[in-house]
Amino acid sequence: MNSSKNRSRRSLARLWAGSLARSAVRSCALAATVTALAAIFALSARADRPYAPSRDYDLQNVRVSLRFDLDQRKVMGEVTHTLSTLHEGVTHLDFDCADLSILGTRVNGKDATYQLIDNKLRVALAQPAKSGQLFEVNIRYEGKPATGLFFILPDKDDPNRAKEIWTQGEAEDTHHYIPIYDYPNDRTTSEIILTVPADWLTISNGKLVSVQEAAGGLKTWTWRQSLPVSTYLISFVAGQYEAKKDTWRNLPVTYNVPRGTADTIDSTFSHTKQMLDFFSQRFGMAYPWEQYAQTAVDDFVASGMENVSATTLATRDMIHPEMAGERPEAADGLISHELTHQWFGDLVTCKDWTNTWLNEGFATFGATLWEEHFYGADAAAYSYWRDQNDWMPSHELYSIPIVTRNISDSVEYVGNVYDKAGWVLHMLREKLGDDAFFRGLKRYLETNRLQNVVTADLVKAMEESSSANVDLFFDQWIYGAGAPRFLVSSSYDAEAKKVTLDVKQTQKVEGHVGLFHVPIDVAITTEHGEKIFPIVVSRENESFSFPVDSAPLMVLFDKGDKILKSLDFQKSPEEWIRQLKTASDVPDRADAALALGNIRDNEAIARALGDAARSDRFWGVREEAIHALGHLNSPAARKEVLSALANEQPWVRQAAVDQLGHFSADDESIKRLESIYKNDKAYSVRGAALQSLAEEKAPDADKLLEKALLTPSPNNILQRASLRAMGTLADQTVVSTLMEWSSPGHPSALRSIAINSLGHVDLKNHDITSRLIAYLSESSFDIRYASIFALGRRGDPAAIEPLEALLKTGELSISVPHAVEGLIEQLKAKNSKGREVSLDPKTIDTRAPSANGNQVVLDRLDRLEQQMSDVNSHLRKIEAALSPGKSD
Ligand SMILES: [Zn+2]
Repeated sequence: MNSSKNRSRRSLARLWAGSLARSAVRSCALAATVTALAAIFALSARADRPYAPSRDYDLQNVRVSLRFDLDQRKVMGEVTHTLSTLHEGVTHLDFDCADLSILGTRVNGKDATYQLIDNKLRVALAQPAKSGQLFEVNIRYEGKPATGLFFILPDKDDPNRAKEIWTQGEAEDTHHYIPIYDYPNDRTTSEIILTVPADWLTISNGKLVSVQEAAGGLKTWTWRQSLPVSTYLISFVAGQYEAKKDTWRNLPVTYNVPRGTADTIDSTFSHTKQMLDFFSQRFGMAYPWEQYAQTAVDDFVASGMENVSATTLATRDMIHPEMAGERPEAADGLISHELTHQWFGDLVTCKDWTNTWLNEGFATFGATLWEEHFYGADAAAYSYWRDQNDWMPSHELYSIPIVTRNISDSVEYVGNVYDKAGWVLHMLREKLGDDAFFRGLKRYLETNRLQNVVTADLVKAMEESSSANVDLFFDQWIYGAGAPRFLVSSSYDAEAKKVTLDVKQTQKVEGHVGLFHVPIDVAITTEHGEKIFPIVVSRENESFSFPVDSAPLMVLFDKGDKILKSLDFQKSPEEWIRQLKTASDVPDRADAALALGNIRDNEAIARALGDAARSDRFWGVREEAIHALGHLNSPAARKEVLSALANEQPWVRQAAVDQLGHFSADDESIKRLESIYKNDKAYSVRGAALQSLAEEKAPDADKLLEKALLTPSPNNILQRASLRAMGTLADQTVVSTLMEWSSPGHPSALRSIAINSLGHVDLKNHDITSRLIAYLSESSFDIRYASIFALGRRGDPAAIEPLEALLKTGELSISVPHAVEGLIEQLKAKNSKGREVSLDPKTIDTRAPSANGNQVVLDRLDRLEQQMSDVNSHLRKIEAALSPGKSD
């Protein structure tokens, strides 16, 4: 799925690790983290069975009929499982089952006895079965699922919202609304029969068989999935939706969104059919299912989920038509990720969660393939470069292999199976070459079609399709952990006309991390041009010498960034400037921008970065140059950032606006920001201007924010930006506005932001604390989690008792309690020792271990954010959404 993962995961996509690394978006990201906590945890924490269970039976068909009681948020169901036993002497049949009351069970038409034991429904057989014996097991049940199936209904905050029911099976949640075998290592066909109000639409897997009138003004929709899939991929969506219908090679292609939002369909989904063509060709196998439906639902637990033939997406990731063009690749990253899963994940499915990378790594990789195809090699290279820079510093992810049975702490595990695994496939493609690599993918798909796989299946397909042995590659990148950390220095011997590189691998060799054996292209440019020298690095310390015709002007180690790594290569400012200006590959120019941002007191550097920020041929390098200028934080750098405001791409302008907020306030910047707020064509840039004005503590910023709060905008983007900026401004004058907008009756998305901002203002005001404590008892996850973390930030000891009480209720989803415990410890520590600890997002960069409990919380939030970045590097392009104006 696209991660990363939560009920209000309104932020998943936005919580990009990459974006998070940027201070400008950090505060928003953290705010979003608050609302995103629940879903993420709900999903990942459940993927807790690293070994597939042994099976007593083979599930062949699941026929399930569902009705709903909306007032009670209750599901009434009847399921018939067709199955055959897999060994002699089976005395009972177990089904996973949670949150459901059983009304009766029958086996082959006869009443059967049953027991509920530890989330299992055990149905007794009249006598021990023979191997291969066929059974029909019928179960009638009802229940109020805590997860797996969600009711989205109008409430006091959102009285006009569409009524929706949707499901989320991954990891192991289907059994919360159907008693079923709930692990990936079995596959079944399915029939989903839904009886719903007559004006609703339903969307499910496979083919729509019929829609019939039913008693009580209802209609019954029957869907059939005729090829077998793992049960976590079973899904449905039902509710007040609007549909747009199309076809691709005679298959139905539909786009479904909540009533009243049909104007987002074209701006979000317009590339779907081109992607179907592209992936069918690139993977060597036509799209394998009977339809492709995409449905956006409200409050989805992730950004997207690849339910078979019927992907579910989050409405928060839909593109508003008035904001089309404000994100680099619109929603393509998400759409292509989920579409890739229809082959990798759905047609061929991991056998157990240990091998999840075979789902998620491929989906991440597939999305970058689309990016490369449609947006160009520079865009794809930049995605990999950013993923690398996000991933390498994460010491927790670093030490864990992609394939590990130790997934109890799935927070860490998730970060590797997306971005790192996508990188590894990228390197495998590089290693084998396109011909052999894509032949291998085709073979893997054909051989394992409609089956469950482990990593060895991929190894076998790759080796059978190429002449290469890939064991070492898989050992170091998939079963081993980490990636090389290189320290490189170069010297030139003018007499011998020789460049020598000293290469060290500095990663600590311990646990699963070893020395790496990797091919590296060294590129040396002299006045006569560039020459490339391929080498293989395999030892801790090595030297390589290269003949040159004259003094080197530029030396690149791993030209084009083909190997996942970190690189510390000492170069002079002049060398970095030359690299920024002249290197042919985006990652090499981006590296130079990054390096130059750390060299102070050099006017030439600000000028060079300013040139790059205005005129590099790829927008990503312009953006990196802007960040580097922000990092320099000098008057000369500020001048260059101001000149970068003329960039054509809104997201690059936004980067410049974000950086302006970090320079010490000056009249010129404030005037420009005010003018941008008033005049920029892009709402995201206007929103960012509000945030920067608040950071600058601009005079009258409070009045401007109050005004923005009343200005209509698509998706309330200016209102969101305003409420968020009020938290940054932290001025007494905004308290009453924030209190008002935090209260019931306002849209919950805006309430959450107001609550988050209350975490930063008027910290001695106990009325605010009391108000936030009152919100802890609301039913909305968003509101509760926003309140929990705002209380943590305020540091008022009055929150300790209510937070402890909340913990005791056991109502928080699985992993959240640890974060809450951390907050409580923090509050206690602060108030007993007078030590200032806070959750200021900027401190999250502090990765060094420290003795205080605060670090534990920060680490946890850090991991959360990592996890939330689950989707893949592409979603980070949705970072426009992370901008102060847009996120959440
Ligand atoms: Zn995915």
